[in-house]
Amino acid sequence: MCALMVFDLDDTLYKERDYVRSGRRAVANAIGSELGLDADGLMALMEAAPDAFDAVSAAIAGLAGADAWPVSRMVDTYRAHTPEISLDADTRLVLEALRRRHTLAIVTDGNSVRQHAKIKVLGLYEFFSPENIYVSDDAGSDKNTPVPFLAMERRHSSMRRYYVGDNLAKDFHWPGLRGWTTVMLIDSHGTNIRPQYPAEAPPAFRPGIAISSLKNLLTLP
Ligand SMILES: [Mg+2]
Repeated sequence: MCALMVFDLDDTLYKERDYVRSGRRAVANAIGSELGLDADGLMALMEAAPDAFDAVSAAIAGLAGADAWPVSRMVDTYRAHTPEISLDADTRLVLEALRRRHTLAIVTDGNSVRQHAKIKVLGLYEFFSPENIYVSDDAGSDKNTPVPFLAMERRHSSMRRYYVGDNLAKDFHWPGLRGWTTVMLIDSHGTNIRPQYPAEAPPAFRPGIAISSLKNLLTLP
């Protein structure tokens, strides 16, 4: 009965745009308090601009204290901030049900500090044990290689395996080649950070199954 169900993190277990918004909010608050500016105004500026930090840089140019806020410091502040993101109620219910049936794991690409900060704030340690969480920067190999998936296979050798993700460029290729069942969470509202164009993906990069809600995972064997 029990399968190994491995999840991507960003735009699979939560919406990455919420993380982006949270990071921009941290930058707006820090600059606002240092320069005596309205943080909400800075936030609105960032939300409207194609390049958020360049827009702020242009807006504060010439103001007292603006020299202390080059774009590089905005980027550092964004990267180091404690994210204000949360697991939505449906995702929590699905994970609660799935963990009673399956072994759950995460394979995510990205910076160690940032990915672990997201995992902690989302409360995912309740569902995923630390040894079943693979962050590419911890291990040195990302999902463009078979390494993360081989690591999971070694740990859970005899199980049926699923990979649940959103990104056609890298989430389904290697696990698909290795015989895993690959599951794409459809970006129904077009709000993912990386737009999803399944028709444009080479066949080997497409998922085996596409679902419109994580709840659909509850019907998989
Ligand atoms: Mg993703």
